[in-house]
Amino acid sequence: SEYLLVVEDLKTYFPLKKGLFGQKTGDIKAVDGVSFQLRQGETLGIVGESGCGKSTTGRSILQLVRPSSGSVRFGGEELISMPHAKLRSMRNQMQIIFQDPYASLNPRLTIATILAEALSVGARQEETNEMRERVLALLQLVGLNPNHADRYPHEFSGGQRQRIGIARAIAVKPKLIVADEPVSALDVSIQAQILNLMQDLQDDLGLTYLFISHDLGVIKHISDRIAVMYLGRIVEIADKKRLFQQPLHPYTQALMSAVPIPNPNQKKDRIVLGGDVPSPANPPVGCAFHPRCSQAMEICKRVRPQELAIERNHAVACHLYGSPERSDH
Ligand code: SF4
Ligand code: MG
Repeated sequence: SEYLLVVEDLKTYFPLKKGLFGQKTGDIKAVDGVSFQLRQGETLGIVGESGCGKSTTGRSILQLVRPSSGSVRFGGEELISMPHAKLRSMRNQMQIIFQDPYASLNPRLTIATILAEALSVGARQEETNEMRERVLALLQLVGLNPNHADRYPHEFSGGQRQRIGIARAIAVKPKLIVADEPVSALDVSIQAQILNLMQDLQDDLGLTYLFISHDLGVIKHISDRIAVMYLGRIVEIADKKRLFQQPLHPYTQALMSAVPIPNPNQKKDRIVLGGDVPSPANPPVGCAFHPRCSQAMEICKRVRPQELAIERNHAVACHLYGSPERSDH
């Protein structure tokens, strides 16, 4: 297959607590039928408001939460039905970078120890000269001073800690990295440095990224292709350039109109979205976006729009574009 990752109709539902009389009260449909493909060396950005299911999508692909149904093929192997033991043996190939690496760095270990553990896949080791060399090389690779190897996590700034988080992720030579809001906690001036580092590492190491962010500016910086998520589904997916030149879905248009990047080709009127994201426990019938959509039609309240390929690298799920039922109102 030309793809490293093929995701088909991925669903991850979380059961709601039972009601007062023991009745089942439904599911939170965090991920509700997500499909996409990812080529080796490519970056797919997933953008959407908080609660749209983008983080759960990333975790479901890595099987950090087990999906309810669908298919996730990584390097040709189906992960969803894979037994835990086999999954563990594949963990090195798939890593995750978190928003707050500090929360996952043991404060009592020096970063040399933390990275030595990562390099030896979890096993605490006597420090050998060879391991020391590998740790120092890793620090250099992510732009940290090797002389600081024996410092503790709290002695580093937020941006430096994210470099440590990245070093730990690439230590095991993964193929796929899911980056979940990796720069959202950082100052804007530091964000670009981390994004540039990730791009350099991608080029040098052939990494493939699934890059998750609520920030369309960040997504624009790093992505080759972009998927826009709303309430557990991808509503539009396209090449970056194409999506910014010709956003089709009203939700994508609203997101873009809110980005303060001057673009003379684009209408500058800001589209203000009414209301909050509805609960994924009780999503609106039909198009889940219809209560907030300025272009909603009668059909939108009844029929869920299916994804439609507009061009080879551009698909959208919206009744404004060639829905078969569109003529009935
Ligand atoms: Fe708006 Fe209808 Fe398109 Fe949904 S399907 S985004 S409600 S026009
Ligand atoms: Mg790239």
